[in-house]
This record gives sequence, structure tokens and C-alpha cells, in this order.
Amino acid sequence: MAIATLQSLLKERFGFDSFRPYQEEVCQATLSGHDALLVMPTGAGKSLCYQLPGLAREGTTLVISPLLALMEDQVAKLKTLGLRAERIHSGRDRAESRRVCEAYLRGELEYLFVAPERLAVPGFIEMLARKELSLIAVDEAHCISQWGHDFRPEYRMLGARLPLLRFGADRRKNPTPVLALTATATPTVQRDIIAQLHLSESKAFIHGFRRSNIAVEVLEVPQADRADMIVEILNDPTRRPAIIYSSTRKNAEAIASFLESKFSVSLYHAGLSKEAREKTQTKFIEGKVDVMVATVAFGMGIDKADVRTVIHAALPSSLEAYYQEIGRAGRDGKESKALLMWSYADRKMHEFLLSKNYPDAGVCQKIFDAVKGRSENKDALKVKLGLDDDLYESALEKLWIHGGIEIDASENLRVGTKPGWKATYLRQRQHRVEQMNLMGAYAEGSRCRMLGLVKHFGDEQDSGIVCGICDICAPNESRLRAPNAAEIMAMETILKLLREWDGQSIGKIHRENLSRLERKTFENLVNAMTKAGFVYLQEEVFEKDGKSIHYRSAYLGSLGDKPSELAARVKILSTLAPMAQKKRSPKTSRSKKSSIIKEKAPEMVADSRRPQRVQALKEWRIELARAKRVPAFTILSDRTLNAIASENPSDLDKLQAVHGMGPKLVEKHGKAILSILSQTP
Ligand code: ADP
Ligand code: MG
Repeated sequence: MAIATLQSLLKERFGFDSFRPYQEEVCQATLSGHDALLVMPTGAGKSLCYQLPGLAREGTTLVISPLLALMEDQVAKLKTLGLRAERIHSGRDRAESRRVCEAYLRGELEYLFVAPERLAVPGFIEMLARKELSLIAVDEAHCISQWGHDFRPEYRMLGARLPLLRFGADRRKNPTPVLALTATATPTVQRDIIAQLHLSESKAFIHGFRRSNIAVEVLEVPQADRADMIVEILNDPTRRPAIIYSSTRKNAEAIASFLESKFSVSLYHAGLSKEAREKTQTKFIEGKVDVMVATVAFGMGIDKADVRTVIHAALPSSLEAYYQEIGRAGRDGKESKALLMWSYADRKMHEFLLSKNYPDAGVCQKIFDAVKGRSENKDALKVKLGLDDDLYESALEKLWIHGGIEIDASENLRVGTKPGWKATYLRQRQHRVEQMNLMGAYAEGSRCRMLGLVKHFGDEQDSGIVCGICDICAPNESRLRAPNAAEIMAMETILKLLREWDGQSIGKIHRENLSRLERKTFENLVNAMTKAGFVYLQEEVFEKDGKSIHYRSAYLGSLGDKPSELAARVKILSTLAPMAQKKRSPKTSRSKKSSIIKEKAPEMVADSRRPQRVQALKEWRIELARAKRVPAFTILSDRTLNAIASENPSDLDKLQAVHGMGPKLVEKHGKAILSILSQTP
């Protein structure tokens, strides 16, 4: 069919004058029978990309959609356009579903929407296969990927079921094309969708992630101060309507009741009844309230164009989720704002949740071993293994998703069909860890926010230029202050330490040299230095006793050798209280030297060769650490290293007597250490 036909259908059947960016390309590819993956942000107009070619190809377009409400909404919209659309899902009764099937078989439907689990109902696929489908659209296709942020097990079966539909009962030669659509897929998820849906020679359209009307700001704000800051922002009427995303239902409730006396507020979370949710959602969409406080449950498929501000009152769990949520701002193309508030405590919370939701593989193994050889009842096994309810449930869920066990209708567990469950689970868990770290790195980042997001989604046709309006491109000076003398002194100490030894873990710098500062204050300083280019941080991981331990290392940045510029260049968030100025005691009044130097001084006098020994031992340690890809302190603590340098033992027995050494360490490293000491007499 010619492009002209697509154009005329666009106008006649959908009432649109022209295509939006990329729609035409996708429609054309689909029309000519290609499989395709389409990744464009919410609101970009993806639906048209199956609705139009489906119509042009003639026959019924099958649409797989995960949410009942979305399906109802789409069908209603198509019907108002005079198009023949129907749906089958759990919310409709048998008679209705039967009528829809009959209409389908009579060839009366242009679109048939179904929930993915419907394809598992015996006979349903066979029924559909009696007709030739013109097109199969898989909406919210990221749900099929366990690497996505919204994995839905029901989507898993699509991989096995779709081929039956595409080739039909008579194994026809030209399979029905499949168009997979999603607003949120990183390159990893994109590859996964293509593989799992068996899209052949598929085209991938990844477009439009740059949102040039959203000014993104990221602020480090202590949790206790966030509600006040929200009020401050929303007091400006041009910042409303607004959506406030909160991490938990409880927090959402607390924020909503805090805001209630000042603004018209709605609350939305999955703990509310369906009626209550629909009511508050409608009120917000219709403009009857102008602040929506919600959890992540809010937003899928919401069509409200004039949201001026999206505030995250907590760190989201992934960049995908974050981008989806800020993307609800400014659909009308007008200037909008997205503010993310976070702190180190948010990151700790995510780590805690991860350990809960993605149990240690050992727990899964324990369940798997118990089921091996015989079937076990779900509840009985829990008691037998003495596992905590939540942990047991989430371990079972993971085992099941990864095919390690099967669970029948009466909750009996059997060994599953996938011997490789553990490897795939560990990969999934690691992926989750990476998502969490990417989110953290983004929050701490010092590069253009929009560009960072666009790159994350692999939008290759993007211009690659900085946005000019985010907090990095255009810092909001009113939220920043200059550092005070105490802060400058602490930052000088950090630079000095890094000049001595680049790439130290920031936890260690704090512990050993600046422990007089609260950890939070210290981290804030490091972050401010990072933003200004004095330091750069790198996320590192090492494995210890089967657990991944995360930490950050600091390296000298491009301005690292210019401590005299700290005062002029570093900007500290004004939400952070200035550091207490140190009282000038007689001892410290004359020197600005950091505590590390003072502590070491007496020993240096007593033993002039000690510094060389420390140095030599450190060089050996860092080399070993690099080779083993572990942090240096896991090989030998600084304290022990210093003690060895002081005592300068001449044999293995004396070495073992050094505080902190033990038989294991001596066995592993004793000879090497003695040899180093003998070379630095
Ligand atoms: P997505 O699925 O990408 O989130 P939708 O398909 O729901 O987005 O489309 C968002 C809105 O854009 C809908 O209201 C739709 O009618 C509208 N739209 C889509 N294509 C066009 C077009 N070519 N011209 C005008 N409006 C369009
Ligand atoms: Mg959509």
C-alpha cells in the first residue's frame, strides 16, 4: 500500500492532519510486513503506529496489553472514532467474551485487545488462529523482560504463544508482523524484547527521549526537610498542577496531609480501593485538584497535558522509572520542571530493599534442595525451613520465575525444568544492583541531566548537545552558597590525601582522616567537590563471603591540583547547614595540618625509615588489590600495615605477633611482606 494511503487513512479515520515525528516510518515498516520494536516516550503517539498499519493491512489487529484500565481506555477511544474495537479480559463476563469471539470470527473486528494471560486459556489461541491476523501489537513490551523495571510473569508466555498466532493453523508463509511498543527500554531491555518475542530481522526505532521543555533539577535534601521544600516550590502557582512521587504509601500519606491545608491535594497509591483511586485520578485529570501525591502506582497511561512540576520526594529505584515519571510533566510542550530530592539515606534504603526483594541465592538454594526429590507443600515447607514469611515468599517467587521450581494449583512445589535458574537469578539480581547504582550515580552526577537520560536510553539520533536548563547547565544560584573556612580546610585535606594516593575509598578517607566530621557532612563536601571538578567518584564493587559490597573511590579531578580555587569554585547547597568552625585551640592555631599528619609525626621522628616501609607495603598492597580486583583494605588493613611498618619484623613468627596479623594472613602474604621489609631496611 502506498504512503498516500497511510496519509489519507490518517486523516479520514483518525482525524489527524499530519504524522508526528517517526510515526510514518514505523507505520510504513509495519505495513510492509516487518517486525519492529518501537521505543518512544509516553505521549509520543505510539498507539497510532499499530492502529494505522493494522487498518491498512486489513483484517484484525490483535493488541496485547497488560492493564485492564489501559485497554478499556484505548477501546473506548477507537470506538468514538467509529472503529470496530473490542476487548477480552478478566473484567468482562463470559457471555460478553463469547460475543466478542464470535464477532472476531465473523471478521467484524478491526482491533481486538486481550490481556496476556488470556493466551494461556485452553483453546483461545486456536480460536484466534482460525483467522489471519493483520498485525500483532505488544504494548508495554518491556514487561516481558526481567531486566525491565516492570517485569510481569504473564508476559513470559508470549514468546512461546505468539508463533502459533503468527503462522496460524495452516502454517502460512508470510507470518503476521509483530510490533512491540514501550516507553521504557534500555538497550539491554531492547535486546531482550527482540529475543524473547522472536522478532525476525526486526527494525528498532528508538526515538525522542529528549524533552527540551523539562528543566531537571536534582537536590540533596535531608528527608526531614523535603516537605517544606515542596511547599516552597508549589507556593508558586505557575508550578502547579504537580505530581509528587513518594517512595512508600506511608510517606505519600504523610506528605499529602502536610500539604492539605495549603493546596488542593489528592492521594493515590495501591493501598486505596479501586473506586477511591479512580476518583482521585479523575479529579486530578479534570483539574479539580492540582497536587497529586502518589506512589509509583500512579501514572501508567495517564493523559494529562498540563502537569507543570513533577517532584520526587525520594530517590527512585531506577532511571527507567524516574524517566517515566518525570516524563509526565509538560506533555503540552510548555516549560515544566522536574525536581528530585535525595540523600545518602535513600541509597541505604534501596540497598536494604534489594536484600529483601532479591534474597540471597543461598535462601533459594535451600528451598530448591528441600524440594529436590519430593514434592512439598508451600506452607509446610516454610515451617520446616523456619524461614521468615517475606523472605520465603520472595525467594519462592524468584525460584519460580527462573524456572527452578513449579507450583501447582494446590500450592505443591516441585523441581522445575530449568537447571540454570541460579545463574539467571544472579544475573537478574546483579542487573537490579546496577540499576540502583546508575540511579545513585545520576543523582550525584555532574553532567547535563537530560543528556545523561537520553544516552541511557540509547537514543542514537539525538543531537547530543547539553540541555541548557538543568541544574548542571544552569545552576540555581539561590540554592547554593560558598563554603566556609572549616569546609575549605576539610576539602584541602581531601585533595592532599588524594595527591598522596589517588583512588582511595571515600569511606576510608572519612574513617581515617576526617572522622571528626559527620559522615553526611563529609559526603556533602565530597559531592560538592565532585560537581566543581576537583574530584571524581567511581562506584566500585567487591565480593566478600558471597556478598557484593559497594563503595565509592575518589580520584583527583581536573582541578585536583588547584586547592587555591576551592573557595571560588565549590558551591554548597544552601539546604546544608554550614560546618561548625573549629575552635582555635592553642595546639592547632598555628597550623592547618590535618590530623593524620599530627598523629604520625612522633613516629616519624622515632624511626626515620618507617615512611619508606609504609610506602613500599602500600605499593605492594595496591598492586595485589588491582590484580585481584578488590579494595586494598580487604588485603591488609591500614592499621595492620602501619603496625608492620613500625615493628619491622624480621621473621614469620614476629610478623604473626604483629597486631592484626594471624596465621591465615601470614600464610598468604608473610613471605612477600618480609621480602619487602628486607628491601627497605
Ligand atoms: P503513547 O502510547 O506513545 O504514550 P498515545 O499513542 O497514547 O501515546 O498518544 C498520545 C496522544 O497523542 C493521544 O491523545 C493521541 O491521540 C495523540 N496523537 C497520536 N498521534 C497523533 C498525530 N499524528 N497527530 C495528533 N495527535 C496525535
Ligand atoms: Mg501507549
